[in-house]
Amino acid sequence: MDSSAAKETLDTYLRQKKLRPTRERFLLLEEIMRTSGHFDADQLFASLNAKGLKASRATVYNTLDLLVECGLISKYRFGDSHSRYEKAFGRPRHDHLICLDCGEIIEFVNDRLDKIQKDVCQENKFTLHNSTLQIFGICSNCQDKR
Ligand SMILES: [Zn+2]
Ligand SMILES: [Zn+2]
Repeated sequence: MDSSAAKETLDTYLRQKKLRPTRERFLLLEEIMRTSGHFDADQLFASLNAKGLKASRATVYNTLDLLVECGLISKYRFGDSHSRYEKAFGRPRHDHLICLDCGEIIEFVNDRLDKIQKDVCQENKFTLHNSTLQIFGICSNCQDKR
């Protein structure tokens, strides 16, 4: 999905929900399109501010929620108190390894895991929408330091 398709998705969603397609919401989406990897609301807020784009913290939070609802971004809890987000389009489904010492997040893709999930769903006559696997532990760098 490219940037204009993403904007269209958001625009359609806002109309359905009878929400105003404000400039701030689209600027926020543009900023997210430029970001790779995981980010939290505060990081996004800071990078918008650094560029002189005015969006309130409340706008950032509620727009992130909207983007999750319309499937443009994914929301994760990596064990700590705040949520993290990443783009949900233009890349394959992947899972995460999270280091409990340094907070490093390693992404991985494993076809066998995908197959197992499909099998489990089939056995339970369950339709899969999305899933996420998070493995908590200690990364190799931190193991060396111990
Ligand atoms: Zn680590
Ligand atoms: Zn990720």
